[in-house]
Parts: sequence; structure tokens; C-alpha cells
Amino acid sequence: MKEVLRTCCACRTKHKKNDLHRISKQNEKIVIDEKKQFGGKATYVCKNFDCITMLLNKKILNKVFKYNFNSEVYKKIGEELIETKHN
Ligand SMILES: [Zn+2]
Repeated sequence: MKEVLRTCCACRTKHKKNDLHRISKQNEKIVIDEKKQFGGKATYVCKNFDCITMLLNKKILNKVFKYNFNSEVYKKIGEELIETKHN
């Protein structure tokens, strides 16, 4: 069976989709969209602390989605990503 690979927007390496969080932009917000419930542009980040931290510190999502998300958006997504990691 062919594995679907996606690139992590933080470390830029390819991984299996299941090893990545799917993140989607909804208007001025960012949502974690593991089940692909939301349409629109999406990106992926590894399910590890380093990549999530890099994503937050460098505000990588601003570049990916060409949008200036505020710190609250990053704070919220950071908390959610770090929380889901332990599920
Ligand atoms: Zn990564």
C-alpha cells in the first residue's frame, strides 16, 4: 500500500500523514483539523514538541497562509497542539 506523505512546515521533512497534525486556516483563525472536516488551505506539522515549538516561535503559519495571525492565535493553537500530542 502506498503511504501518503506530507511535508512538515517546520522541519520540512516528509512524513506519513498520521504522524502529522493537519492545520487549516479558517478566516482569521487557525484550527487543528485532523479529520479534514474543514476545507480550505491546510498545512502539516510533526507531532513532536520541537516542530510545534518552532512553528510557534517562528510564526511559520504567517508565511504558509500569507496572513498575519496575532499572538493569541498562536497561543491557542500551541496549547491545543501540545495537549493533543499526549492523547
Ligand atoms: Zn517537523
